Amino acid sequence: MRKLAIVGSGPAGLTAAIYAARARLEPLLVEGLLPGGQLTTTTEIENYPGFPAAIDGYSLVQEMRKQAERFGTSIVSGDVKSANLEGKALSLVLESGEVVEALSAIIATGASASYLGIPSEQKLRGKGVSACATCDGAFYRNVPVAVVGGGDTAMEEALFLTRFASRVFLVHRRDRFRASPIMADRVTTHPKISILWDSTVDEVLDVTRDKVTGLRVRNIKTAAVSEIEIGGLFVAIGHKPNTDAFRGQLEMDETGYIVTKNTRTNRAGVFAAGDVQDRVYRQAITAAGSGCMAALEAQRYLESKGL
Ligand code: FAD
Ligand code: NAP
Repeated sequence: MRKLAIVGSGPAGLTAAIYAARARLEPLLVEGLLPGGQLTTTTEIENYPGFPAAIDGYSLVQEMRKQAERFGTSIVSGDVKSANLEGKALSLVLESGEVVEALSAIIATGASASYLGIPSEQKLRGKGVSACATCDGAFYRNVPVAVVGGGDTAMEEALFLTRFASRVFLVHRRDRFRASPIMADRVTTHPKISILWDSTVDEVLDVTRDKVTGLRVRNIKTAAVSEIEIGGLFVAIGHKPNTDAFRGQLEMDETGYIVTKNTRTNRAGVFAAGDVQDRVYRQAITAAGSGCMAALEAQRYLESKGL
């Protein structure tokens, strides 16, 4: 029986592992099918403190992993498929069939951005197609960009991008926004933002074959097809937290985010950190910070039980 199992190897899980291992909890970390998490899918990280010249996402999580292993974290591969988080002994069933038993657990399985699912978008991910303006917006100084979506995230992304881009096209599939009125007002009145209502993306264009150069857009009411020139496409159509394995075990909100209070879940001894419990900030530094909090909470929980 382990004292602590951590699920997920992004910045939240790895930071939790560093703290827990230094507290001599000898954590076992289940790394999942994307070792290192979302940061491994991007290049330059310019906003993680301590790296003034930027660091690539893969190297950043590799350093975190080394730090976690240095203090005695054990790492196993694969996904958790199901869990029983009731009672004193928690159990996690891995896809291999192996069962991990632990006295406490930290869930740090992150969230996945939703994409449109068209082949040209998939091909150009990381080559002008992004799901994070905070992360990648600064790469688009003085070039036009487009945002897809009509919720608050799309509004925030579009407004943020006006700081850099020469023009921001907002492509939305209906004739009104889902976003809160105040955010929608800011967008509709912004001089740099042009809204393409009732429109869907047919294709992301890459004339040079290796980066986004434009967008083919279809008006779904008139069937008219047009092309716009852009250097970057930001897809902001929602995120899905990776919580399927814990459904029915932990309290979640209506979209599946784990409900936490200072990383504590509704189950004693079970904590959650990072994007899996954060629909607002979704940054590496906030994920790492909450990973630290979860490890400290787990340590206190185990001490309070004399374990
Ligand atoms: P994740 O990084 O999502 O890691 C989740 C982990 O859980 C993965 O290891 C996965 O394998 C594992 N997992 C999932 N399901 C299971 C399961 N069932 N069983 C076991 N393991 C599981 N943030 C910034 O601060 N700056 C940036 O510049 C930046 N750029 C980004 C660029 C891109 C393209 C993307 C997609 C995100 C970017 N972000 C950036 C956001 C940042 O990556 C996330 O906020 C951060 O990675 C969240 O960390 P996390 O540990 O909560 O989850
Ligand atoms: P959301 O509210 O679910 O909005 C998703 C948007 O994407 C909708 O406009 C939807 O269109 C569109 N969409 C979905 N699938 C699409 C597809 N396949 N093709 C084209 N468009 C598609 O998601 P969100 O904006 O990420 O917000 C999630 C939650 O976080 C919300 O509760 C939001 O209020 C909250 N949030 C709040 C703030 C803030 O308060 N500052 C900031 C960000 C997020 P339809 O409208 O036609 O369905």
